[in-house]
Amino acid sequence: MELTLHEAAEKLRQADRIVLTAHEHPDGDAVGSTMGLMYFLQSLGKQAQVILEDKVSKNLHILPGAREVRQLKWEQEIAEKAAEEAAEKAKAEPESEKAQENPAVNAGEKKEEWEPEPVEADLLVILDTSADRIGRVKDVVKAAAVINIDHHITNQEKELPVYVDGQAAACAEILFELIRAMGGDFSKNLPMAQCIYTGLATDTGFFRFSNTTAHTMHAAAELLAAGVEPNVISEALEVKPYEDIMSLAKAMEHIELLHDGRGAGVFLDYETMQEIRHTDGIVDMVRVIEGIDIAVVMKEKIKDNARVSMRSTGLDVSAIAKTFGGGGHVRAAGCGFRNTPFETAKAKLLSAVDAALDAYVPGTGEEGTPGNV
Ligand code: 5GP
Ligand code: MN
Repeated sequence: MELTLHEAAEKLRQADRIVLTAHEHPDGDAVGSTMGLMYFLQSLGKQAQVILEDKVSKNLHILPGAREVRQLKWEQEIAEKAAEEAAEKAKAEPESEKAQENPAVNAGEKKEEWEPEPVEADLLVILDTSADRIGRVKDVVKAAAVINIDHHITNQEKELPVYVDGQAAACAEILFELIRAMGGDFSKNLPMAQCIYTGLATDTGFFRFSNTTAHTMHAAAELLAAGVEPNVISEALEVKPYEDIMSLAKAMEHIELLHDGRGAGVFLDYETMQEIRHTDGIVDMVRVIEGIDIAVVMKEKIKDNARVSMRSTGLDVSAIAKTFGGGGHVRAAGCGFRNTPFETAKAKLLSAVDAALDAYVPGTGEEGTPGNV
């Protein structure tokens, strides 16, 4: 069911307890959009909180309040570690009555599945994705109503009220308009401005990708006027530990040219991933290879579960991603292979890439700088 921005605003106005969420592996737009809207709703006196499935990356901790976001994976890690420690302690002192009574010990012994604390809400707002990529948030939040706001052209949400603007460079660009339409003033709320700016900046490759429009720039200008310091945000987002740079160097050794040099890929199977701690951003290094129409990165962090990132200069990679259950944009898309041996997944992806390259005549697609996430 399609929703207008005005109707979305109305739903937000009517609700009091609101949970905001976004996709797994949250990027700058996912975190910036959810937190930006959270700050706005809180300024209206509403109870608004952000809950995400995965952890917010350390770089995004530059955003005020990012550490306080509920991150289910993080909660799970803490709970499991506590249970493990308690179990160790109980083993070390089996006679201790205290340890016997400790519920964490019992949980550890029985290997009970950890379950996140549920939350009741009037409204759940899903941002920067459709409902299928929010992980356990959909079970944790008991919401009376749900709405979806997104900028992905592949968003196929049929059941929920949904507002999709495929022209918006970032979900944060939609929220910029929504917040203004609801009377929000960025100059009075710096954290809100910083979060929305981060969404705009990261999804446009810092205003370089072809999704950057005059509207994106006007929005960014207003956020700078409100006090956002662009260099502070970009420097915090770019910085990487030395070990991560060394990991990227190792990963780069795996670059291979595809299809007579019309594509380039990095394929990192489970064994290789054991030596490579960090690969975020590698696709951006591959995509700049001269003369290629497509860049792909496939990594198997979890055995038989490969994740794929694709970038192009015009060829529609979202169509390739869709055939494997993923999605995204024309020039930036992704998908995952579940319970599939790495070599099988790689062969399937490569055959789809070959077919797409055979069918694609450079210069006839939606040309532009790759990226557009
Ligand atoms: P990235 O390669 O940066 O992870 O993702 C590129 C773009 O594709 C982003 O807009 C992201 O949201 C989208 N994307 C990545 N993986 C998936 C997926 O599995 N499903 C869908 N629907 N979109 C994805
Ligand atoms: Mn986005």
